[in-house]
Amino acid sequence: MSQNRKIACYLTIILLLGCIVQGEMLWLKDILEAQILPEENVRGEFEIYRDTLELIWEEIVWFPVPASSSNEQAEVAFENSWMAERNYGGKRSHEGTDIMALTDQSDYYPVVSITEGTVEQVGWLEKGGYRIGIRSGNGNYYYYAHLASYAGEWEPGDPVEAGDILGYMGDTGYGPEGTTGQFPVHLHLGIYVPLGADKEMAVNPYWMLKYLENSKLTYSY
Ligand SMILES: [Zn+2]
Repeated sequence: MSQNRKIACYLTIILLLGCIVQGEMLWLKDILEAQILPEENVRGEFEIYRDTLELIWEEIVWFPVPASSSNEQAEVAFENSWMAERNYGGKRSHEGTDIMALTDQSDYYPVVSITEGTVEQVGWLEKGGYRIGIRSGNGNYYYYAHLASYAGEWEPGDPVEAGDILGYMGDTGYGPEGTTGQFPVHLHLGIYVPLGADKEMAVNPYWMLKYLENSKLTYSY
């Protein structure tokens, strides 16, 4: 082999090796990029979540249980029981806040809508008893459960103003329709925010209720 052909051979081999190494580098780069989260999407989701929570703070008006003008004993109490264990219907976590009636009397305390909105769900649920769900204009869902009775004949689509009486606190649920007495009288409040087209996420209502504690209507009961 002539000297020139040898040099040409070496150069070809070096070129080929270079191509292979470069190809692998590009391949590795693709793999690495695929594993790093696209930062713009994360930022987008974070902003949607933040804006959604801000809308809750803007739309909540009244504490869901008014104060009594005539009965000093008619008080309520609530704790932060977010994600506490519940056992009825299988092990699950508590997605809400329970507002307990210190006067343990069903069908006594009125329950008002925290926000304006429209009635979306009404009627019996095995776990929720007689419940009513209000969808706010901003798209958030407020779920009031274990009611003893409703204030009127609510139908899905009915408009609701903040402060309208939805029903009366009770101890319904944990069984077939009409079941009562499985737990003390209380209002279970759940708040759900939309995440995209058909996903929902429960948020902890405790902080909203703490914020609303000084915004109670006063009714005679
Ligand atoms: Zn509850």
